[in-house]
Amino acid sequence: LERDPNQPEYMQAVGEVTQSLWPFLERNPQYARQGLLYRIVEPERVVQFRITWVDDQGRVQINRGFRVQHNSAIGPYKGGMRFHPTVNLSILKFLAFEQTFKNALTTLPMGGGKGGSDFDPKDKSDAEVMRFCQALMIELHRHLGPDTDVPAGDMGVGAREVGFMAGMMKKLSNSSAAVFTGKGLAYGGSLLRPEATGYGTVYFVQEMLQRSNLSLEGMKVAVSGSGNVAQYAIEKCLELGAKVVTVSDSQGAAVDPAGFDREKLAALISLKNEKHGRVQDYAQQFGLQYEAGKRPWHVPVDIALPCATQNELDLQDARTLIANGVRCVAEGANMPTSQDAADAFVAARVLYAPGKASNAGGVAVSGLEMTQNAQRLRWSREEVDRTLHTIMCDIHENCVRHGRQDDGYVNYVDGANVAGFVKVADAMLQQGLY
Ligand code: NDP
Repeated sequence: LERDPNQPEYMQAVGEVTQSLWPFLERNPQYARQGLLYRIVEPERVVQFRITWVDDQGRVQINRGFRVQHNSAIGPYKGGMRFHPTVNLSILKFLAFEQTFKNALTTLPMGGGKGGSDFDPKDKSDAEVMRFCQALMIELHRHLGPDTDVPAGDMGVGAREVGFMAGMMKKLSNSSAAVFTGKGLAYGGSLLRPEATGYGTVYFVQEMLQRSNLSLEGMKVAVSGSGNVAQYAIEKCLELGAKVVTVSDSQGAAVDPAGFDREKLAALISLKNEKHGRVQDYAQQFGLQYEAGKRPWHVPVDIALPCATQNELDLQDARTLIANGVRCVAEGANMPTSQDAADAFVAARVLYAPGKASNAGGVAVSGLEMTQNAQRLRWSREEVDRTLHTIMCDIHENCVRHGRQDDGYVNYVDGANVAGFVKVADAMLQQGLY
């Protein structure tokens, strides 16, 4: 860890995993040999490169691109690309590290990776986004391949960006092999991939509640974010009879005591995805309370689903949620909860699921997209949904197996970390030192 003093997010992610693995390693010293833990925190390869492109005004723009190929012990590197001004090596290493364990949890043969750029697609034209994506692929293509590294979307990278990158990949590699997931349906995408992370998170919540003889029916839910994950988490909550009373973006939160309905959700999706609008505009459209610069965690709810970004729920937020009687917190985003906030949930015996377990549905369906591409077949929406549901139930069961405490409480953080670690560690030990 001393090697990376300027990578706080990476330190945080490694610290969290190490803390929950430690007792397990003491009980199972076979996993403490061959420098395994030290090898697992060192990415196998990190590529950083310059991206040069020309904007609509004819000016030359320079961005920084990255791909972190973290671990390939159980399959090709797999993980999204993030386009956001905050992207740096620390954030991508934390995401790639988390992805390695998450992918192991899905039971599918995928290693862990992550990449991205400090490019901000928000205020750019379609033509600028295309030129940027093509310029990025001029370098990235040589590091990818269907059995090497298969990227997907993440924040700022949706179907449009994946399309431009996949198109350029095909051109440069002279191969139609599908080297992205999250592709459009017209060229090898899987049905239900856009919905998968949000739906999967809610399936996981269903399983957590079921162990306590509870259901989503009638539960009040706070969702943060309003992007891909948030939108489909809201949709599945509605389908299962829950009432979603908040939504947010990086500028503020909307509070809606009456809760979302189909019409409001359709308006939010159209506003965010087609018009690139703000939650403030959404609140205005439906006469809702809008809280500029605020997060939604002060609203009393039964369930909280942080679906925006890392470290968006801190200790104070956790205390407020606990004081208001929250029963379940499941992360749709990656590491949205700070370490002390996560500890507070566990100490208060709140059902708390870390993203590597609860948001694994996205990458799971990406894995199913790879399978469909290899088969040259497309599965029906029902078949993908059924498999996603089964995978989320299996991940839940695996977390319970490794995280159940003597008093019956399930520490999902420990459960997910140990279950993911064991699979990766076994594969690494069996393959020797390299
Ligand atoms: P999107 O870009 O579609 O949406 C991100 C949302 O988060 C937007 O509403 C954005 O608001 C909001 N946001 C960004 N920064 C902040 C901030 N500092 N404070 C509050 N809100 C913020 O991304 P996704 O929905 O795809 O991803 C969300 C999270 O889920 C990420 O952590 C991602 O890594 C994780 N994830 C995504 C998966 C997927 O399949 N998409 C799979 C697994 C995890 P604004 O519009 O203002 O920027």
